[in-house]
Amino acid sequence: MTNGRELNIAVEEVKNTLCFLAETGCTGFDCEKKSLETIECWGKDMAFMPQTLEQIRADLGDCRCCKLSNSRKNIVFGAGSPVARLVFVGEGPGFEEDKTGKPFVGAAGKLLTKIIQAIKLTREQVYICNIIKCRPPGNRNPEPDEIKACFPFLERQIAALKPDFICALGLFATQTLLETKEPISKLRGRFHDYKGIKLLPTYHPAYLLRNLDKKRDVWEDMKKLINEMGE
Ligand code: URA
Repeated sequence: MTNGRELNIAVEEVKNTLCFLAETGCTGFDCEKKSLETIECWGKDMAFMPQTLEQIRADLGDCRCCKLSNSRKNIVFGAGSPVARLVFVGEGPGFEEDKTGKPFVGAAGKLLTKIIQAIKLTREQVYICNIIKCRPPGNRNPEPDEIKACFPFLERQIAALKPDFICALGLFATQTLLETKEPISKLRGRFHDYKGIKLLPTYHPAYLLRNLDKKRDVWEDMKKLINEMGE
């Protein structure tokens, strides 16, 4: 039997939940797309809270925050050492990554593995992730609304990892992290600041596979990374 005290607690809980939903923008118990999206995504804006990678992954759950969730097979969260000094950030999963749920395991991934070995590290010693966690259909470019929906999770991952260095691979990773529209050719090859972390943009390995003459530039960039990390 419910006594008066339990009833009061239950009423208080319902009140708190309603206040919380109102604060997050929910206007009522309607099933409008916008209200449902608000409820689905309420936990995203927590970059300021100290969290572990496991907590962030759990919070991401079976994410439905953008339309890519309709076509993806697997969410590609990220992989590597949770205490990595260096984090590689790519663009988004391709066919192989979508199939396996692991980042950079296709052709571009094999080249990234070689780049990591060239700087005398292993994939297990670094952390590898992407700007978006679900594959865009046909490997098209990520769209602004997809980046906007997904980026808060990456921000939280970086806050959890607290790396000394980020290597941004390609245009989308670099422009998103640095909040700029400058071309990658202007940004690469020198260190930038991302929330106190040294961020080095370089060309994306998939771009390198199509433009072999740019390998030399990437090697020059990696030498800068080795020097800076050695200090
Ligand atoms: N390209 C990317 O940007 N990320 C991957 O995980 C794979 C290919």
